Amino acid sequence: MFPMKIVLASNNAGKLAELQAMLGNLGMELVRQADLGIGEAEEPFRTFVENALAKARHASRQSGLPALADDAGLCVDAFGGLPGVDTAFYATQFGYEKSDDSNVRALLEQMSDVDNRRAAMVSTLVALRSADDPEPLIAVGRVAGEITRERRGAGGFGFDPVMFIPEFGQTFAELPPEVKNAHSHRGRAAARMVELMRERWLA
Ligand code: IMP
Repeated sequence: MFPMKIVLASNNAGKLAELQAMLGNLGMELVRQADLGIGEAEEPFRTFVENALAKARHASRQSGLPALADDAGLCVDAFGGLPGVDTAFYATQFGYEKSDDSNVRALLEQMSDVDNRRAAMVSTLVALRSADDPEPLIAVGRVAGEITRERRGAGGFGFDPVMFIPEFGQTFAELPPEVKNAHSHRGRAAARMVELMRERWLA
């Protein structure tokens, strides 16, 4: 019964394209939940895996199809892993508007006296065969780096200008997009998810 349809619990066109490129090799076709008239799920939890699971379960329950969801963010060692699930809204905690630029400004300010600069971008993908699947596939991708003291580079988005990756000696915003994408937390999580699906769902 190929291609197998999977609902993607995200309406982000970039994520759809990136994930479709990888899952297409398994004979899977991703469909955005909005295209099936499915609204967004609540994300009330404090961990990526719980929120991604809630989103996948909601999409699967509403559609009757297998579902895939992601949740991602920045985890700063010195802040006990935060902002984590609050990353997109980080700047609003400090009275700034919600934007990438404000997020970077707020992070540099909050870390101005912090010596431990270690942080990771983390992406968690969860896939379900059915809404009540007791054995979700969980794939985590992470990229560890150091938060710089000032912005460097013009590429990318989000925290890329302050995310220094020691193995490349540059920030994500300084690296060519194809290098960043090949080594991003999202790319790593997706590659791991493809392996898991091959092993557990298609073997
Ligand atoms: P999401 O993956 O769209 O949910 O992103 C959550 C938060 O992490 C947002 O604030 C993004 O700007 C930030 N973010 C996600 N991916 C990246 C990335 O590749 N580089 C830098 N920031 C990112």
